[in-house]
Amino acid sequence: MSAPNKQKRSDRSAQASAVEQASAGDLRQALFREVNDQIQSLNAEWTADAEEVVLCECTNPDCQEPIEITAPEYETVRRFPTRFLVKPGHASPVGDRVIIDLGSYLVVEKVGPGAETAIRLDPRRAKARDEAATR
Ligand SMILES: [Zn+2]
Repeated sequence: MSAPNKQKRSDRSAQASAVEQASAGDLRQALFREVNDQIQSLNAEWTADAEEVVLCECTNPDCQEPIEITAPEYETVRRFPTRFLVKPGHASPVGDRVIIDLGSYLVVEKVGPGAETAIRLDPRRAKARDEAATR
């Protein structure tokens, strides 16, 4: 089996640029997750009955869209280091798989190299590591 050379080449370059984009976007997502975790930790009033505004965790560097979410919903997403909250339409076509669509926001799961970045930079994981180290 031999695919036409032209086709092969364009596949490869499309893939390479997708990886580059994903890594910058992945870092942004990890950063915004940390910001949202800060928002959460500073707000003791945030409960199941009150929606709090966090920031869209999509890969777009210019996005500052708010997402309203209750504390338990937020916690459910954060239980998975590869999951992020984004506005509808903000899921990255490369690297994000939409797993939950609640209308006002989506929960996406990182696939491919972005998933590794997401796990590596999970602030909750780092915190657990630090606590283990001081024990
Ligand atoms: Zn966004």
